[in-house]
Amino acid sequence: ELSSRSLPHWHTKRADLTPDRPALLAEGVQWSFRELHERARTTAGKLAALGIQKGDRVGVLMHNRPEMVQLVHALSYLEAVLVPLNIRLSPVEAGWQIQNAEAKLTVYDGTNRKTAQKIREIDGALALLAWEELEQQQPVDFQPPVRVGLDSLHTIMYTSGTTGKPKGVMLTYGNHWWSAVGSVLNLGLQPDDRWLICVPLFHMSGLSILMRSVIYGITAVLHASFEPSAANRAIRKEGITHMSVVSAMLTRMVDDLGDQCYPASFRCMLLGGGPAPRPLLERCKEKGIPVFQTYGMTETASQIVTLAPEDALSKLGSAGKPLYPAELRILRDGREVPPGSEGEIVVRGPNVTPGYWRREDASREAIRDGWLHTGDLGRMDEEGFLYVLDRRSDLIISGGENIYPAEVEAALLAHPAVAEAGVTGLPDERWGQVPAAIVRLQDGAEVTEADLMKHCRERLAKYKVPVRIHQVGRPLPRNASNKLLRRKLAELLPKGEC
Ligand code: ATP
Ligand code: MG
Repeated sequence: ELSSRSLPHWHTKRADLTPDRPALLAEGVQWSFRELHERARTTAGKLAALGIQKGDRVGVLMHNRPEMVQLVHALSYLEAVLVPLNIRLSPVEAGWQIQNAEAKLTVYDGTNRKTAQKIREIDGALALLAWEELEQQQPVDFQPPVRVGLDSLHTIMYTSGTTGKPKGVMLTYGNHWWSAVGSVLNLGLQPDDRWLICVPLFHMSGLSILMRSVIYGITAVLHASFEPSAANRAIRKEGITHMSVVSAMLTRMVDDLGDQCYPASFRCMLLGGGPAPRPLLERCKEKGIPVFQTYGMTETASQIVTLAPEDALSKLGSAGKPLYPAELRILRDGREVPPGSEGEIVVRGPNVTPGYWRREDASREAIRDGWLHTGDLGRMDEEGFLYVLDRRSDLIISGGENIYPAEVEAALLAHPAVAEAGVTGLPDERWGQVPAAIVRLQDGAEVTEADLMKHCRERLAKYKVPVRIHQVGRPLPRNASNKLLRRKLAELLPKGEC
């Protein structure tokens, strides 16, 4: 165990190094690293009393609350495996993930009581326990690990299920460790750094902040949910230095900010999870908001490619270069393509998952010779900066030309009347495929299909302009992670068109 393949147990080590530094700030809560350590240890003793042991999977169905942070960390004291569950999943979906991970126990909080109840109704054999009941357990004595192996399993996190059924991504201590190291070698570190968490802790974006907090010894500031004005206040008045966002969050924050600006001490707005619309990036540039685009996925334990501070302004629209420990290639037909050419994004690094849980077929397909084939398309410029285009599965090929739905959607979204836009390919005898769009308008807004077509023609090459722009009155189909399900768009078109 004392080899280079292991590290001292993170939390014990952190509590020893900087016990008095604030680890977690949340409403009504201020825990130092010492207190976090003690709380997590006590919770671990309670889990041990329930028979949880090394290697056991434990589901967590909880809101962004301090109790969840405590539980997430507690699992590592037993070397049990964390299985975070998206609280927006339907009971059937959550139940499936619990079964698939063969979780010995799933802990839920008060706000998820109903879901838990329904999961029980679907499968009475699944063990679910309320946080309050766990709290009432009498903790037993146990031996926390002195060291943790970098190859030991820490998490099984399910992908969002945008392209198909979610897959359980296995993440080791080493994956989390190298993800945190890669990030800090890019963004830098100061002892009073504070990272604001408004993204869900059950996603990689949120969980990775908890890991960084312990590894770096910095404060995680936890908001129970995302509220633009509360987030802006935290940045402007409460010493936040870093925040992770997706573009929909950032848009609302910039709207809320108005004429105000952020203090110079705010160093990083980490923007990932999906495409970043150019107009948003430009607005942020004007306002001096330090946006760092990043590209990553559950399989890479969060970021793998991120812009560097010095390129944030000059390389607008790029996701940056692979982080220090990582490598990147763009492949077509198994060969690397020259700069400027498009192909599949393929990445390698110590933060990349060893594979999918109980899915050897999918693992073998995705990870070849240590390289993860992401299923995303992109291109690299002459200087090695990555531009993410779209998912390969959503690519529309029309008369031999590639059309990226994300680009067409961004053009539609630039119209003030459009609230949501989704683009998909329809079969076409002449062109093979043609793009069609579904839009939902802003409340009370009115615009004709012809006007939207004109708007698109002004912004897009002719072959990219949707042949139909169909308006719907309901929100577009999205998964529990709020990602657009393009594979379900065609069903929304009037019959006879698809
Ligand atoms: P599934 O794998 O089940 O289909 P998912 O890929 O949506 O779901 P996640 O791991 O949450 O699950 O999301 C990662 C994906 O998000 C990436 O593969 C990519 O498609 C998209 N993404 C992440 N960052 C960016 C970015 N900067 N630009 C464009 N897309 C991005
Ligand atoms: Mg994916």
